Amino acid sequence: MVLEDNDSELLEKHNIFVTTLEKLWNWGRSHSFWPLSYGCNCCPIEMMASGANRFDIARYGYEVFRASPRQADLLLVAGPISLKMKPVVERLYAQMPEPKWVLAMGNCAISGGPFKDGYSILPGVDSILEVDVYVPGCPPRPEALFYGLLELKKKVEKL
Ligand code: SF4
Repeated sequence: MVLEDNDSELLEKHNIFVTTLEKLWNWGRSHSFWPLSYGCNCCPIEMMASGANRFDIARYGYEVFRASPRQADLLLVAGPISLKMKPVVERLYAQMPEPKWVLAMGNCAISGGPFKDGYSILPGVDSILEVDVYVPGCPPRPEALFYGLLELKKKVEKL
């Protein structure tokens, strides 16, 4: 039997679920980001707080912070990137397997923040990497980070 898109009644009646493998993978990915443990300055404190019991990032399935870029699919850039750290961040990103995403957390990661006029800070991570989601604030609270992660979830689900 060939099922058409408008055969919803038939699909419900027989509990048939039709999708593509790609959509199924993306659904799984969007519900279980594995962020790389990377941070600099004060924003990472909020990132760490998001994993503690008061905020509990595990509610969303995003608590598996990895110490190795080879096991991570989300580069969560929290805090400024100094020129000295630039090649390190680029290397970490290059070592992450595809598919991978970048979230810029805080004004420093987005634009250099209060350090943007300094000689040693990048004017935002998007000057070296493509950013998927921006979470503004100085620092953004864990709730703002969760909102950004849920926006990334929507983006990945639509791929
Ligand atoms: S955005 Fe504000 S809180 Fe975050 S690292 Fe920069 S100065 Fe610190």
